[in-house]
Amino acid sequence: MSANHHFPRPPVLFCDFDGTITLSDNIVAVMQHFQPHGWEDIVKDIVNESKSIQQGVGEMFALLPSSMKEEVTSYILANAGIRSGFPELLEWCREHNVPFYVTSGGIDFFVYPLLAPFGIPADHIYCNGSDFTGDNIRITWPHTCDDHCDNNCGMCKTTVIRQFPETEYFRILIGDSITDFAGAKLADLVFSRSHLTEKCRELGLPHIPFGTFHDIIHHLDEGGLAQ
Ligand SMILES: [Mg+2]
Ligand SMILES: [Zn+2]
Repeated sequence: MSANHHFPRPPVLFCDFDGTITLSDNIVAVMQHFQPHGWEDIVKDIVNESKSIQQGVGEMFALLPSSMKEEVTSYILANAGIRSGFPELLEWCREHNVPFYVTSGGIDFFVYPLLAPFGIPADHIYCNGSDFTGDNIRITWPHTCDDHCDNNCGMCKTTVIRQFPETEYFRILIGDSITDFAGAKLADLVFSRSHLTEKCRELGLPHIPFGTFHDIIHHLDEGGLAQ
């Protein structure tokens, strides 16, 4: 029997990248490693929500010269680890005909290379862009907020999720942190880690904390929160 029978509508998965598919947040890792002056204040402003994610991420990368492209890219590719069970979750989605989308607040120059081994179609990966032609790194925003979102997300997860009407789909978000907060409020079910678990508790959103993607496969086979 298909696991889809457990859900009231066909499920669709929206999965965060940094700190979810990867073990830690690559933007934070880059800033901690290269220590451009002023990055810590920008992170604080993003976390306490006095600065939008789009503004803050743009400002942080603008602290790094474009000439560091190779160095920054190599650092991330060498240090990012993939969370256990990720290939198995993708296989589960193929077997059960469940659409899987990467919805990332990360940047193309590290998201695409890190996902390359997994065979996810390019049009199922949403992330921000980058421009290294100026003096400093400039982040570009091909997937900004639609008229329904005023959060200045940068890559707007709610805009992607809204393409799948709640009347037709059971919308499942997987994530860990601040870039997932807006999307979590829309989703039918959240698989959460870290700050996102706290946020879901605080807001009373239906969520299941997870450690690895194997945990998620288990819960999907069981029908999420269903008994
Ligand atoms: Mg994340
Ligand atoms: Zn948005």
